[in-house]
Amino acid sequence: MPQKNVKDIEKEDVLKGPIRAGEIDFGFRKEIAASPGGEKLRHCYQCGTCTSDCPIARFSDSYRPREIIRMAQLGLKKRVLSSNTLWLCAACYTCTDRCPQDVEVASVIRILRNLAVKGKLIPSPFKELGKNIVETGTAYRIPELRLKKRAKTGLPPLPKSNIKAIEKLAEATGFSQMIKQSD
Ligand code: SF4
Ligand code: SF4
Repeated sequence: MPQKNVKDIEKEDVLKGPIRAGEIDFGFRKEIAASPGGEKLRHCYQCGTCTSDCPIARFSDSYRPREIIRMAQLGLKKRVLSSNTLWLCAACYTCTDRCPQDVEVASVIRILRNLAVKGKLIPSPFKELGKNIVETGTAYRIPELRLKKRAKTGLPPLPKSNIKAIEKLAEATGFSQMIKQSD
């Protein structure tokens, strides 16, 4: 199956569309506020600074941290946690640094991702990256041809990953199991 790119991920996103009352989960906001970094979620007044300074939003048609924060405030649990764009955040913390209300936007996104993982809602391209890490030690599988080219141009070999240690860690944390789960 061909690898999905950012545009494919964005097309499949579920954040858009009319909000129905039945979607609102009142406990969701409390759940986020009870997690480290989520305490100030309700302080957001939707100024949009996080989105305007976000390097990912600049190059994406749909990734908007302000929108994610609003959805979380409204308790739209299922919608936010199954949103593919949630996974586009680069965790650069620019939004957190710039928020005039001290909302830890990047931390809220981390909390949401963790909740998505708990609910087994990881988009398949990210599971694939996880598998690559466990099996090779890097998120992207480096083709043999590229390694040969490196050697040919006199570049030193890439450092070897300790796959056994990675596997052990992945097993102990439940990461291996999580990336094996089907979509
Ligand atoms: S910068 Fe802060 S207050 Fe403004 S929209 Fe983003 S989270 Fe809300
Ligand atoms: S941490 Fe994520 S949401 Fe915040 S500015 Fe960086 S990429 Fe954007």
